[in-house]
Amino acid sequence: MIFPDKCAGCALCAAVCPFGAIRMAGPKAVIDPEKCTLCGACIAVCKFDAIELRKDTEQKKDLSRYKDVWVFCEQKKGVIQPVSFELLGEGAKLAKKLGVKLCAVVLGSGIEPRASELSARGVDRIYLVDNPALGVYQDDPYTEVLARLVEEYAPEILLCGATTIGRSLAARVAVKIKTGLTADCTGLDIDEKERLLLQTRPAFGGNIMATIITPNHRPQMATIRHKVMKEAEICETRAAEIIRKNYPETVMISRTKLLGVMAEIEETVNLTEADVVVAGGRGMGGPENFAMIKELAVVLNGAVGASRSAVDSDWIPYSHQVGQTGKTVCPKLYIACGISGQIQHLIGMQSSKIIVAINKDPDAPIFKAATYGIVGDALEIVPALIKEFRRVKNF
Ligand SMILES: Cc1cc2nc3c(=O)[nH]c(=O)nc-3n(C[C@H](O)[C@H](O)[C@H](O)COP(=O)(O)OP(=O)(O)OC[C@H]3O[C@@H](n4cnc5c(N)ncnc54)[C@H](O)[C@@H]3O)c2cc1C
Repeated sequence: MIFPDKCAGCALCAAVCPFGAIRMAGPKAVIDPEKCTLCGACIAVCKFDAIELRKDTEQKKDLSRYKDVWVFCEQKKGVIQPVSFELLGEGAKLAKKLGVKLCAVVLGSGIEPRASELSARGVDRIYLVDNPALGVYQDDPYTEVLARLVEEYAPEILLCGATTIGRSLAARVAVKIKTGLTADCTGLDIDEKERLLLQTRPAFGGNIMATIITPNHRPQMATIRHKVMKEAEICETRAAEIIRKNYPETVMISRTKLLGVMAEIEETVNLTEADVVVAGGRGMGGPENFAMIKELAVVLNGAVGASRSAVDSDWIPYSHQVGQTGKTVCPKLYIACGISGQIQHLIGMQSSKIIVAINKDPDAPIFKAATYGIVGDALEIVPALIKEFRRVKNF
């Protein structure tokens, strides 16, 4: 707000406002609240302390009403996706520190039988919305239903997988319920004194790890990468309380029409689930040489990964990219062929159990992350490995 008695009419604030939200009404400045984004640019230039930013403290007063840690458990064709079990494992630690319940949220069609699976993963309560309109993920009904659940039951923390579905859903829900969202977290913890969720994720191109908090809004929302957290252990004897909710058909309306779902044809095993990943980078020299990466992956019953450079050069589709803007993998064996090992790539594979790096530059950074390093030409070494593995495996 502007204090008219302090405003000297210099018009500096109107000149700096990037949103055209300030105009001069006679000798005094006036703010248009419809246009103002509270950026504070006007405050910085006002020499007369005539402008004050008053933040909405309404929600802050109400924070105590929010309790429990919620995990959105993604399902596809009625099968709970593994990332959900990882989030439940991490969610359980957070709930324990806060002394609250761990709750799962499942939306789908005919999914009630899956409840026992979630109970066995240590969940205290399950919010279940079973409706034919929720069988396959669609932005509109999923967003509406999850937002309504949040508004009614008020969780303190809401976690979603940083998957295609989780990323789309979490962002939409956060906007709808007016809270913050930290995307693509790789670490979570609790500030026990302040009861705040510490949400850690790579920032500035992966050069630093930033820890983000949401002090004034609830729930504290984060999407978490697949394969960075440990799955919740199975304990068959547990039985969670189930809260079944249903909503009128008007809530299930979608602005988009689902024409069909086409599965990507995988010639090798799924990248994020694979025990062995053979990945190629720019050092492979061209798309034709990815045939040997694929062949080695097939021989080892593994999946094909790639660096962003290889993907950007159109040598292999984006679905194979490993790293900060690609997939996170955690196989037992990761073979990096002609990949330099920049931080943005390492982020996606550094927790692999054994890393074998093949690179002709002995100073390539990938060797610092590698368990075993082979200095040499990948175009010679990969065929030699294929030959030897075929001989040993009689393949
Ligand atoms: C915001 C942001 C996000 C990013 N996200 C990702 C991401 O998700 N994933 C990702 O991978 N990158 C990502 N990058 C890009 C990343 O910084 C690197 O540019 C990229 O990983 C490099 O790919 P590369 O190692 O294949 O290529 P290069 O860095 O060009 O390295 C090629 C390597 O191959 C070696 N080589 C050459 N010829 C041979 C041979 N015949 N035999 C053996 N070795 C050979 C060279 O010595 C070199 O080390 C991102 C960058 C930014 C800024």
